[in-house]
Amino acid sequence: MPNSNVTKKSPSQNNHGKQDSTDQQKNTSNVVRRFIFTLILIALCVGLAYSLSPKTKLDEVPISNVIARANDPNGDIKKITVSGSELKITLKGKDQPTQTSRKDPSGTLYEQGLKNFCEGLEGDKLKECQEKYPAIEYESQSDFWGSFFDIAIIVVPTLILFGFFFYMMRQAQSMNRESLGFGKAKAKLYGPDKKKVTFKDVAGNEAAKQDLTEIVDFLKNPSRYEKLGAKIPRGVLLAGAPGTGKTLMARAVAGEANVPFFSISGSEFAEMFVGVGASRVRDLFKKAKSNAPSIIFIDEIDAVAHKRDARGGAGREDEQTLNQILVEMDGFDNDSGVIVMAATNRVDMLDKALLRPGRFDRHVNVTLPERKDRLAILKVHFKNKPVASDLDLEALAAKTAGSSGADLANIANEAAIGAARENHEKITNSDLTEAFERVAIGPERKSKVMNDYERKVTAYHEAGHAVVGHVLPDSDPVHKVTIIPRGQTGGVTWFLPPEDRSYKSIYELKDVLARAMGGRIAEKIIFGEDNVTTGASSDLKHVAQLAKEMIVEEGMGSETRNLVFPGEEVGYYTISTGKPYSEKTAELIDKEIKTLSDEAAKRAEAVLKANLEALDRLAAALLEQETLEEKELDTLLKGTTLPKSAALH
Ligand code: ADP
Ligand code: MG
Ligand code: ZN
Repeated sequence: MPNSNVTKKSPSQNNHGKQDSTDQQKNTSNVVRRFIFTLILIALCVGLAYSLSPKTKLDEVPISNVIARANDPNGDIKKITVSGSELKITLKGKDQPTQTSRKDPSGTLYEQGLKNFCEGLEGDKLKECQEKYPAIEYESQSDFWGSFFDIAIIVVPTLILFGFFFYMMRQAQSMNRESLGFGKAKAKLYGPDKKKVTFKDVAGNEAAKQDLTEIVDFLKNPSRYEKLGAKIPRGVLLAGAPGTGKTLMARAVAGEANVPFFSISGSEFAEMFVGVGASRVRDLFKKAKSNAPSIIFIDEIDAVAHKRDARGGAGREDEQTLNQILVEMDGFDNDSGVIVMAATNRVDMLDKALLRPGRFDRHVNVTLPERKDRLAILKVHFKNKPVASDLDLEALAAKTAGSSGADLANIANEAAIGAARENHEKITNSDLTEAFERVAIGPERKSKVMNDYERKVTAYHEAGHAVVGHVLPDSDPVHKVTIIPRGQTGGVTWFLPPEDRSYKSIYELKDVLARAMGGRIAEKIIFGEDNVTTGASSDLKHVAQLAKEMIVEEGMGSETRNLVFPGEEVGYYTISTGKPYSEKTAELIDKEIKTLSDEAAKRAEAVLKANLEALDRLAAALLEQETLEEKELDTLLKGTTLPKSAALH
């Protein structure tokens, strides 16, 4: 399967008429306005701080005390500044007044008892006298700064109020852009000024990125496309399994193009009251258009856009929401400059009306990462974490086949949490391994005490898996065996595929069935038919599941070779009516499944009986060491043989 492919069913008629230069002018005038606004805001803040700042506190002294000191030839007063009835007293050796007092407003200081020693003196004598006694200065009462402060006390708060009001208006305006206003659609804006996600943050999926580069380019240079009469896609559908990075990818497109990104999730529509969904769609498109070029992103669109004809019927509310989306997309002008992106993990469930030309006519598949992509994703998620030199991301990438980007991000995060819990300075490889196993199976239950018998059963059970897997020629190599309980399991045997393979042969699948049986069979051989434990239940489920898939989906039965039995589509609202084939066919399928699992059990038994020594060796080593790694396993399993009865070819 190709990593990604784009289906261009029919290019839409969408041309973009907006000029780059107008955009730029709009941007510059925005910047200037922002700047001026910021200046005003700063000025207001300074004014506020100044008007509220405590003026240097002066000591208040009684007027009689001031007069007595001023009349004393050895007094400490240098200057008295009189302003109305207020006195400010500067002491000798100081530059600023430190004391204050009040005089009776009706009379002068002299009338209130101040002696005028220097009266009538002239020349040097006057100078001498003036140095000894305080200088009296009268300030005009309506002095500039005094009245300035009087006015400021009224004006500054008013300005602040106005400023605040102005600011709120601005905020509301930008809120309109960002969140479509109070109480309206919950769409979030990841505009150019929010934390930007770019293609660099999306590892792997090169083909999908390649496809989306075109969209980015269009959003960046609409006029170039318009000049050449190119038809621009209107809707892009991102399809892929959960956690493959669809949402991330959509944000990256907005980030690369540096345009506003309006996103809403289909499941949010589903929660809404009747009629609200449709009006939010209207709103969303209106906002996006007024901010064009821009991106509308409808995440999990399958929640509103599942097949309308599916039995049970889509809810009427969903139908209205979906219709409104279609109406809006059809109503796009050629120059609207808005690209609608949507994500789903169920393309097959989508209403076909959505996929018509002029709507979501462009499909980008976002796939589960291959090994090299997994490595790249892990690198992205360890980029800003302190890591020890032994951290082996390659090894983790190798053993995480089938994991999504979200799974890998989760492992990276768990590793960091684990390292912190263990007080490591850096994330070590053992933190990473622990995180992987914790995510894959569940946390180790070190505290659970198994009694000796349980441990022995577990050791033989896991050794059984390992021996069968090792001996059968088409099985993946055994990577690690442990009898440390983890999650719901008593022990684990890991097999490691040497590389990612998209296709598996019947031989390989039959070996998988046999090695899954290996645990239960080992218990049976060692402890007897009636002493087998419940420890094999998940193995048996796995066998049943895989055998069924082989028969029903892959045409791998012996009598039914190359025949498949597709079941009925089970969708959100489809009520299963049971098997779409006859009773006889059902019986045949069951028989084929039984044949496969019986064969698996027989092969496992043959292998184990032929290699009892190796089984004992492995179980003993497990009881002693609890965990065995690949190298130790290789040594312990040397000399095992494949009995004829277990060979397929
Ligand atoms: P989806 O929308 O397909 O379910 P998301 O975009 O929500 O997946 O992905 C969830 C998280 O998984 C992302 O936030 C990111 O941390 C991580 N992730 C998924 N795919 C990738 C990728 N290709 N590169 C880096 N991180 C990824
Ligand atoms: Mg998502
Ligand atoms: Zn098992």
